[in-house]
Amino acid sequence: EIAAYTRDLTKVYGSGDAEVVALDHVDVDFVKARFTAVMGPSGSGKSTLMHCVAGLDAPTSGEVVIGDTNIATLKDSRLTELRRDRIGFVFQSFNLIPTLTALENIELPMAIAGRKPDPEWLDHVIDIVGLRSRLKHKPSQLSGGQQQRVACARALVGKPDIIFADEPTGNLDSAASAEILGFLASSVTDLGQTIVMVTHDPTAAAYANRALFLADGRIVADMDDPDRDKVL
Ligand code: ADP
Ligand code: ADP
Repeated sequence: EIAAYTRDLTKVYGSGDAEVVALDHVDVDFVKARFTAVMGPSGSGKSTLMHCVAGLDAPTSGEVVIGDTNIATLKDSRLTELRRDRIGFVFQSFNLIPTLTALENIELPMAIAGRKPDPEWLDHVIDIVGLRSRLKHKPSQLSGGQQQRVACARALVGKPDIIFADEPTGNLDSAASAEILGFLASSVTDLGQTIVMVTHDPTAAAYANRALFLADGRIVADMDDPDRDKVL
């Protein structure tokens, strides 16, 4: 089963002499319950691919389908809803609201959507990310690794179809990185979550089942090992 895919996805920035082809006819399938690392040099199109598949950036041409929805045909308001209800995001910079507690941050996207988290699931997610004793803390009272756990819990709690993680360990030391990657990987194997992670770091990519390599806006290698549950 496919969580999201692109067909002939092209993204061009600027025009004339300033034209940059950030994505050049990209076809990719993201299979459910798989962890994909998107790798490649700076400027190869990793962020653009993630932003187009996540509905944050509009393709110049081609198709992006999430679940059974072709997002090119959606009005902005429907696209915002789809992002909110069916996609989870984890960023390098955590992007937590400083005035809210950890628990309030975790619940925020669902609160905005007017949804209530399933209490048992919320409990389970809090345990998975190991935040039980930190729920009333504000982000400034938490370490970087703990802040990223909050962001991961926030992404997981709505049971999204797919989670996009953009350099999720870019601001973390290696011990905190290993923890974050460990539970991202276990959310794939244990919970059936689908994750697409942009990373420069081969150590981070080793936690994924699949490594996709971009160069100049094209997929130049796709190393997919369906039998590999977890590498480490
Ligand atoms: P990566 O994430 O692999 O570093 P990006 O997707 O950020 O690559 O960028 C791909 C190409 O598109 C680069 O040449 C970059 O300079 C260009 N690009 C990205 N975003 C914009 C933008 N908003 N305006 C113009 N060019 C952009
Ligand atoms: P970087 O990886 O460049 O340090 P981030 O990981 O914070 O920055 O963000 C990556 C991209 O995602 C940026 O282009 C930013 O505009 C976008 N972005 C960041 N936070 C959000 C958000 N909450 N919702 C939508 N887009 C976001």
